[in-house]
Amino acid sequence: MSLFTQTTARAYCEPWQEPIVRNGEVNYTLRKAVSVAIPITIPTEPIGSIPRPVDLIERVAKGDSEDPNLDPLFEDAIRDTIERFEATGSPVVTDGEQRKYHNFATYCVHGLPNTAPDGFKIPFSDGHTRRLSRLTRGPFRYRRYADCYLDVAMRYAHVPVKQAVISPSALSLMYPAEGIPDYSREQFIDDLLSEHETEIRRCLKKGAHKVQVDFTEGRLAVKIDPSGHLLNSFIDLNNLALSRFSPEERRRIGVHTCPGNDLDSTHSADVDYTELLPSLFELRAGNFYIALAGEPDRRHALKIIHKYLKPNQRIFVGVIAPIDPHIETPEEVRDRVLEASEYIPVEQLGTTDDCGFSPFSDDTSTSRDTAFAKILARVLGTALAEKLIGGHS
Ligand SMILES: [Zn+2]
Repeated sequence: MSLFTQTTARAYCEPWQEPIVRNGEVNYTLRKAVSVAIPITIPTEPIGSIPRPVDLIERVAKGDSEDPNLDPLFEDAIRDTIERFEATGSPVVTDGEQRKYHNFATYCVHGLPNTAPDGFKIPFSDGHTRRLSRLTRGPFRYRRYADCYLDVAMRYAHVPVKQAVISPSALSLMYPAEGIPDYSREQFIDDLLSEHETEIRRCLKKGAHKVQVDFTEGRLAVKIDPSGHLLNSFIDLNNLALSRFSPEERRRIGVHTCPGNDLDSTHSADVDYTELLPSLFELRAGNFYIALAGEPDRRHALKIIHKYLKPNQRIFVGVIAPIDPHIETPEEVRDRVLEASEYIPVEQLGTTDDCGFSPFSDDTSTSRDTAFAKILARVLGTALAEKLIGGHS
């Protein structure tokens, strides 16, 4: 057995390691401050939505969201959103979904002549509900693809832009239980997958930094069907879509899970992550954006992530709770990142917000100022943690 001294152990170890020699045996811990830059970075990304300016919400409420007279107002909202995003130092931005009318889920089908407003109901914990559209006849086609939002955002942005799209599983709820004459569910699913694939390909081609598939209905599915059958059918459907992409493309594709966020209320926060995450990590995506800041027991969730996480999956943990009116401090964020790093290899770790700040366009429960203050805390806090974990001087 070779006996190490503190000096010889240091000669053998990497610059970011600190040897601890006891009885001639050496163990290594992370050095807190080293003078060389180590290429470990912790990426940080938003989810998507930012509260719309109040005057825009009021103008849209009075008329038609597609009225060309509103175009300058939408354009101003997008420009201002991106400017304020970039002012936080956020390395990746979005257009704040300013033009996703009326929400994160139905933007692509809003205004279609073959839909009715009385579709699937999302029940929130405070008693209010939101509804998806219902398909009344085939064929199913998107009315718009999300890359049209990227076109505008990329004109204003100086940093990479990501784009959120709705999952096939959420849109699958548009097909009525009683069926549609001459348009089977199988035909519908074929059309749906094809439209979803087209949307993602268009976003990737235009240079989206990431394409994030919003999958808020994953956790809700467990609440609706505790047997897990509905969740697994959603996972299978979304995997059919993800399988159409190459491993390289999937590195730019992510999936977002959360308990919902509307009018400061959630739809499935009481569903334990034990029921969701093992299935979630079966999704063939390269990135996962997981609500964590608002969880009552973060370490419980992190232990499940640690157990089921696969290689080549990057986990962006939520370090900001959009629902909580308290603006997190950078130090709070730093500590949440350090906590997560105990369970997730740092090469697979990233940070995000638990959810968008207003997934529904008329939600004014959080102000734009609060949203950007929270984003600033995420950016600063992640950088603080990166200095400690990544070894930057
Ligand atoms: Zn969300």
